[in-house]
Amino acid sequence: MKTLWTLALSCCLGGGVLAETDAAAEFARCVAPDAELRKLATGMKFTEGPVWVPRDGGYLVFSDIPADELKRWSATEGLSVFRQPSRNANGNILDRDGRLITCEHSGRRVSRLEADGTLTTLAESFEGRAFNSPNDATVAADGAIYFTDPDYGLRGQEREIDGCWVFRLDPKTKQVRVLVKDFDKPNGITLSPDGKRLYIADSGKPRHIRVLDVMADGSLSNSRVFCTIDPGVPDGIRCDADGRVWSSAGDGVKVFSPHGKLLGTIPVPESPANLCFGGADGKTLFITARTSLYAIDVLVKGHGVPASP
Ligand code: MG
Repeated sequence: MKTLWTLALSCCLGGGVLAETDAAAEFARCVAPDAELRKLATGMKFTEGPVWVPRDGGYLVFSDIPADELKRWSATEGLSVFRQPSRNANGNILDRDGRLITCEHSGRRVSRLEADGTLTTLAESFEGRAFNSPNDATVAADGAIYFTDPDYGLRGQEREIDGCWVFRLDPKTKQVRVLVKDFDKPNGITLSPDGKRLYIADSGKPRHIRVLDVMADGSLSNSRVFCTIDPGVPDGIRCDADGRVWSSAGDGVKVFSPHGKLLGTIPVPESPANLCFGGADGKTLFITARTSLYAIDVLVKGHGVPASP
């Protein structure tokens, strides 16, 4: 409680010397000053969408979008191909049963990998019109999938939806609802640990992350700016278990307090597009950045990282 109170006070003070000191101290509680960024793999085209899978000893799945591949990395086996072609897969997340949910650019759909290895289309259109190119997703406690649909992946395909919207998908009924239409390029998306707030990155002109309240019926309200990213744009975002928001940015990964105050930056030599927590203790931060995959051990656990069996 002391930490939260200090952060609240820092926000009220609006960024004076005391607040900056508090931010640095809080960042040091998240990332040790001597923590080392490791390059795990390189030579890829454009990496995105990492997700930690706690089965079979634990491994990471992520996308190389232009290569049309899903990749797999583990500490024991290194890098391999997980799925090819991937329909230019982008964001990946696990559902409540541990199944891989994937946003596909050229597939223009959200798919689910079943236990038997087959792929199920969960959604590919809204009111009869094909999605643009689903980008990233997050899963709520009730299993609902929130996903963004900017037009980055259209690449000459015909546009059918007149905007870049955010949707809610019920995987049981396959019902799709549009939730918000006022983003330029909605991109990374993640829920707060209590599921009451949804963070959505806008990598278009605003370059900010907005936070919205999640209503009991899954709809959203009270949209407001949470933070602005500089340099670069916000793309992939994740919450840690204490509700801080970790965002990709032009110069690395930025960590924000639950109130939107910048605590610090993990510098990364290539601009990150996305990130996730993983590892056996949920305290490894994996970062997909252009041609490479990086990792750094941090001091806090990611929200929603399933424990390894
Ligand atoms: Mg993205």
